[in-house]
Amino acid sequence: MGKGQMTALDRRTMLALLGSGAAGALAGCGGGGDPTPTATTGDGVPEAYRTATGLGDGQRDPDALATQSAVNYQSEPQGGKQCSGCSYYVPDKNGDGLGACTIVEGTIDPSGYCTSYVAHEGGTDDGAAREAVAVPEDARCAVCEMKAANFPEWNAQAVHADDTRAFFCTSGCATTYYAVTEQFAETDTDIAGLWVRDLNSRALIDGTTAYYALETDADRLEDPMRVNPAPFGAREDAVTYVAEVDSLTEDDIVELTAFDRALAERYRGQLLD
Ligand code: SF4
Repeated sequence: MGKGQMTALDRRTMLALLGSGAAGALAGCGGGGDPTPTATTGDGVPEAYRTATGLGDGQRDPDALATQSAVNYQSEPQGGKQCSGCSYYVPDKNGDGLGACTIVEGTIDPSGYCTSYVAHEGGTDDGAAREAVAVPEDARCAVCEMKAANFPEWNAQAVHADDTRAFFCTSGCATTYYAVTEQFAETDTDIAGLWVRDLNSRALIDGTTAYYALETDADRLEDPMRVNPAPFGAREDAVTYVAEVDSLTEDDIVELTAFDRALAERYRGQLLD
């Protein structure tokens, strides 16, 4: 793409901001309009969100955010639409259950909604199917077949593009499933969402944006299946973790896309074909 060309999402961002009436920062150069002060910095979101990327790949610009009131933000869904299914949504990064938005300031509830909503093309129209769900009592881990609900502090889950769901006892089984999906999945469609538990808070966090410390000591965590990567919503928590373990360095902190067959062999080699 040539310099100065605008992507489809860039255009939608512009249109959304203009449509919301929150376009002071963008339209101010046009002259004459009400210079509503919509650009903001220091909007109170944790640093991890400051220039984060949203579901639609747009990047958050902390100097060009609409106020929540300018886009009529609410913490409830509307008409089946909610932030977790919006292209501008930045999923939870610190395990507190809230996220952010690439065009609206402040922390954002995944169940929220505003007038700048744009359906994320990789999600469903209502976004609901891309949320984590309560683990069914009888759900077996898709990799090791243990009951996932028996491990409420460790279990994980995934959903595919056709809404097929998979549950796991631990992050080790979840990341193995991600790496060797063809062996364990009941569908050929892509994984559309994956959630793991933050090692500190034990809250479900977005596994696609989490940071994983490649723990290899089966005794350190006393976890189910005995060895699992340690997930964290915030990279600084992963850094703190590896700093306390002699055998790990920051080079052992990876994101979900790093999980391949070799890592699956490390964590669940006994279960692979
Ligand atoms: S619906 Fe939510 S994620 Fe989408 S633009 Fe509005 S606040 Fe941001």
